[in-house]
Amino acid sequence: MVGLDVANPERSDDKELLVRAKAEGRIILTRDKALDDACVTKGARCILIKSQSLEGQLKEMADAGIAIELNPQRCTICNCVLEEVKVAKWQCTGCGKLYWHGSHWRNIEEFLDRIRRNIKSEGNQVTDYRIGNENVSKDLER
Ligand SMILES: [Zn+2]
Repeated sequence: MVGLDVANPERSDDKELLVRAKAEGRIILTRDKALDDACVTKGARCILIKSQSLEGQLKEMADAGIAIELNPQRCTICNCVLEEVKVAKWQCTGCGKLYWHGSHWRNIEEFLDRIRRNIKSEGNQVTDYRIGNENVSKDLER
């Protein structure tokens, strides 16, 4: 829901993951310390996720410089691009799922707001953590 292009590779080995992340300009999100170390060695961008909660994980991503603004560009089901079909109403070009402003949407906005306020309170940059359309690899299942 924050507009990131996410790949969720199934059980590829670390070496393969590293090569792919570098080739596609992705950031690897992982809980695997060994993989994080390998990324540092090989020059791939990686964020070591430690939190168990979604809020904590998003905060860790924000702290590392990833924009966590509500920005519907990608389907949360299939990662395909969304297109605006009416004002404030989007449809997935892949699976057809519809997205619109509603109570669920407002809940997500409040949730993201809370995370951004937490970052601010700890003295980190708030306004400048957007780094373009950075691609992100999700690898939290390890
Ligand atoms: Zn979809």
